[in-house]
Amino acid sequence: MEEGKTQVMKYEPVIGLEVHVELNTKSKMFCRCSADYFGKEPNTHTCPVCLGLPGALPYTNKQAIEDCIKIGLALNCEIAEKSLFERKNYFYPDLPKGYQISQYRWPLCTGGRLQVTGNRIIRINRVHQEEDTGKLTHEGNETLIDFNRSGVPLVEIVTEPDFHDVESVRDYAKKLQQLFRYLEVSNADMERGDMRLEANISVKRKGESGLPNYRIELKNINSFRFMVAAIDYEIKRQKAALEKGEKLSQETRGWNEDKKCTYIQRSKEEAHDYRYFPEPDLPEFRIQSSEFRIKEIKKNMPEMPWVKAERFIKDYGISENNSKILTETKELAEFFEIAVEHGKAHEVSAKEIANYLINKKPDIASFLPTQVIEELKGKKVGVIEDSGELEKLAQQAIDENPKSAADYKAGKEAALQALIGGIMRLSSGKADAGKAKEILLELLK
Ligand code: ADP
Ligand code: MG
Ligand code: ZN
Repeated sequence: MEEGKTQVMKYEPVIGLEVHVELNTKSKMFCRCSADYFGKEPNTHTCPVCLGLPGALPYTNKQAIEDCIKIGLALNCEIAEKSLFERKNYFYPDLPKGYQISQYRWPLCTGGRLQVTGNRIIRINRVHQEEDTGKLTHEGNETLIDFNRSGVPLVEIVTEPDFHDVESVRDYAKKLQQLFRYLEVSNADMERGDMRLEANISVKRKGESGLPNYRIELKNINSFRFMVAAIDYEIKRQKAALEKGEKLSQETRGWNEDKKCTYIQRSKEEAHDYRYFPEPDLPEFRIQSSEFRIKEIKKNMPEMPWVKAERFIKDYGISENNSKILTETKELAEFFEIAVEHGKAHEVSAKEIANYLINKKPDIASFLPTQVIEELKGKKVGVIEDSGELEKLAQQAIDENPKSAADYKAGKEAALQALIGGIMRLSSGKADAGKAKEILLELLK
């Protein structure tokens, strides 16, 4: 068959992703200011350190380092024994010091991987710790600066250019968001800017070895939907350009949602030289020392969502799709497992419970796992209503699970479910759930 004019050239997209996530630590990365800045009066969460005043000295937030390590461990990274910060120098009004404290040559975590849809493995180049900048607001001819965000802990996760389709990119970004929430290191809300995506895109001829000698960096994309649209658009634009014989060069582009197209923001000529050098005001830190205790950190990490999803399929005989839905949040997964535990005493199967949760979608914040069983049985199943007996069970559940009790007292309402689950297990599912909850709340006051 004749090749040529009518045959469309086959191109393959090459995509790498950079994800920034703001940590939900109490204080900022290098000072004691509150990191909870969202919606707060501008410039009220500041001090000489995060305002970049001369002579102010930074000190490292250990919780942030621990959170960064957790993310690295979850992504199967190597955790560095020795790590240090560097200054990334550039001028911009939202950066009062004239440099961002970041990591370049000695990142905390390197060489990880994450499996995405279609059994593809995405290699993670690095997971490093840095700080956020202030926030600029443009009003007419004026620009306002709010430094409340300046110095908030930020973790950056960089992949190798291993994506070849937009579906894998979407799946990866969603998995990271789910991971941050499971680890409770960030709310990872895209609209609030807790989580930000940058995609690097190039296109090469299929079968060609090596990487294209250019890449287009898509910046400032604040939703999954826009990211998918922008990447789709870029792949088409770049293919068309290459087919016309044009040469593409390095650029930064943004997404215009009104016009549904990308537009150029910066070309290579304006690229930065950040003049990285080690931060002289912060000591290098050693992670394997008793100070950070990788083992301890690992022990306190939850089961990974993708591991949980696999386990649910095996343990409960539910479909892959249902398992994915039930493990979407850690809270729903916990709710399901408590209900299953409770169901055992009443001959209600895990499958029935899974279907109920997926189809009826009860609000698990106000619903109890045992109510699922009652709904499915069509009758009350709690027979222990005696308050004395219930109080004993509740106390036992608290004693067995002090972490959940502490979490609840610290404001984590979802932790209550685990305690109610404990009561159910201790009573072989016979406790009256509503009363048990009341008594539990009384004890936790
Ligand atoms: P920078 O800070 O300049 O963006 P990084 O090293 O932090 O550089 O990130 C580079 C990102 O670009 C990585 O995710 C990498 O996988 C990706 N990348 C590198 N080369 C290409 C390419 N030819 N096409 C698409 N993505 C690429
Ligand atoms: Mg980049
Ligand atoms: Zn401060």
